[in-house]
Amino acid sequence: MTKLEVLKQYFGYDSFREGQEELIDAILSGQDVLGIMPTGAGKSICYQVPAMILPGLTVVISPLISLMKDQVGALNQAGIPAAYINSSLSAQDYFETLDLAKSGRYKILYIAPERLEVESFFEIANSCEISFVAVDEAHCVSQWGQDFRPSYLKIHRFIESLPKRPVVGAFTATATKRVRDDIVTLLQLVFPKTLVTGFDRPNLYFETHQSLPSKINFIIDYVKNHPNQSGIIYCISRKQVEKVHNALCDEGISATRYHAGLSQEERRRNQDAFIYGDKLVMVATNAFGMGIDKSDVRFVIHHGMPKSLEAYYQEAGRAGRDGLKSDCILLYSSQDVNINKMLIDQNVGNPELSTAEQKAIHQKDLERLKIMTFYSTTTDCLRDYILKYFGEAGCGHCDNCSNCLVEAEEIDVTNEARKLVACVAVTGEKCGQMMLFDYVRGQPDDKLDMFHLTGKKGYGCLKDSSVRRLREILGHLIRNGYLQTDEYNKPILTEHSHDILSETVVMKVTKERKKRMKNRQRAKAVANESTDLFELLRKKRSELALKEKMPPYIIFSDKTLHEMAAEQPLTEKDFLDLSGVGEHKCEKYAGEFIPIIRKYVQEH
Ligand code: ADP
Repeated sequence: MTKLEVLKQYFGYDSFREGQEELIDAILSGQDVLGIMPTGAGKSICYQVPAMILPGLTVVISPLISLMKDQVGALNQAGIPAAYINSSLSAQDYFETLDLAKSGRYKILYIAPERLEVESFFEIANSCEISFVAVDEAHCVSQWGQDFRPSYLKIHRFIESLPKRPVVGAFTATATKRVRDDIVTLLQLVFPKTLVTGFDRPNLYFETHQSLPSKINFIIDYVKNHPNQSGIIYCISRKQVEKVHNALCDEGISATRYHAGLSQEERRRNQDAFIYGDKLVMVATNAFGMGIDKSDVRFVIHHGMPKSLEAYYQEAGRAGRDGLKSDCILLYSSQDVNINKMLIDQNVGNPELSTAEQKAIHQKDLERLKIMTFYSTTTDCLRDYILKYFGEAGCGHCDNCSNCLVEAEEIDVTNEARKLVACVAVTGEKCGQMMLFDYVRGQPDDKLDMFHLTGKKGYGCLKDSSVRRLREILGHLIRNGYLQTDEYNKPILTEHSHDILSETVVMKVTKERKKRMKNRQRAKAVANESTDLFELLRKKRSELALKEKMPPYIIFSDKTLHEMAAEQPLTEKDFLDLSGVGEHKCEKYAGEFIPIIRKYVQEH
């Protein structure tokens, strides 16, 4: 079978996505590979397709135990013999799976890294040929990565111990040079074909809001305006999760919650409720999401700002894995900076590192937080900001983020900028942001009184400026180095502050949200207005999912259902043409869905 035949027959896709084909070709020619692709780009296909072509068994090493069951379920649905071995299996299931693997029953075997050291696993290696080892989440091998796993360091020893060295593929979404080098060295990849695909996710729309009067009301409105859509709301603390979750439930919204303070049993139950579609909205801390492969998440709203752009992009990137339009919205408030700073300070370092190393890591964390704050407050294109941060060329103006869709104008703010900087100096850098705004606007403020600043030079010098405008200007001054923030997020002077006296400051400021933004929302509402047929198909999918104890999106993704509703296939041949329908699924499900389509067509 050719790789394209495998792609079509088992996965139901017509073509490869960027990077997939090159990696698959290298693997099939016997070369090691390192694939760096953002979440949702389709890394799994890169090892699943070769697994069906190469002789013998492909071993996939993955740290995500919760994901294994899903992935294996999806592969079995597609007609691919696969299984997994991890600590969640009972002793009986474990030995049964081992026996079947030894007898050559599977093409793909997922395994948790800890299990590689177990003696009985070596028996498999000796009784059937392992032709390919794929290391998923390969950044776990590096101490510079976010989720270092010591057991990953033993992978190369396992590979060495095999009678014949298999091809080795490493896959990750972490792109920094240090992590990349570690992967090649520590997994001992041999002249690997390295491929980094674009980090852009064009189907994701990015939006930021600063200082909303009520974040919770915003979220409630958003969810109510997007009925039947599944989404995640990330909060910084457990307390916030409880608050937001309660508020949504009070409004009758179908929501559940997830954080480390809940029992393991409740976490599992709530996670399943979300994945299987019983609850539409998941309110969670960042403890939720690793290993969640739900492809039809239509929105990710951050109730608070995360501590780095890496974390943000990873969490926001859980939206729209099926390629359909999805929203990533960040609700920022300046307290988020202080909370994150506190969390970073509390983060006790790794005892295996020296004091100097720990200090360097702490410094790096603060630097990352600053970048994240800039993202939250910039008025430039959000996508451009993300792409440049991840080392890509950027896109200038994407027309698919709130900053690009907002009516903006370039205005000269030199006068206000100079006054703000001067007032930071006059007040002896004692003012937090709000206190500074009160000072320049000449507003009463207890703290100003306490520091005997009320009425001092410059007090009330910008009395006609709105807080919103001042916040925009202050953000611009901080991003451009005229001011900086201290550890309490107070604006303070920099060595470039005095340059403001000789420079003109021009910045983009927002007018009210422009019509296009409203049009976009309208267009989206129309697009999202599920057709009657789509709803009928969705109901069928839920029934089947319940019967087969599978998450609905594993049977068919939303994208496939939308296509089904639009194309209305009435024959098996047409059904097979749908993206996401392979031969196995066609055989199994055409008979379930076609009658519904036929009835619908007849009635309309
Ligand atoms: P990653 O592991 O990179 O985060 P996945 O492997 O989970 O991403 O793939 C994300 C989604 O993209 C899945 O729903 C998958 O079926 C789909 N996908 C992958 N490759 C293709 C392709 N060539 N054509 C269409 N859809 C694809």
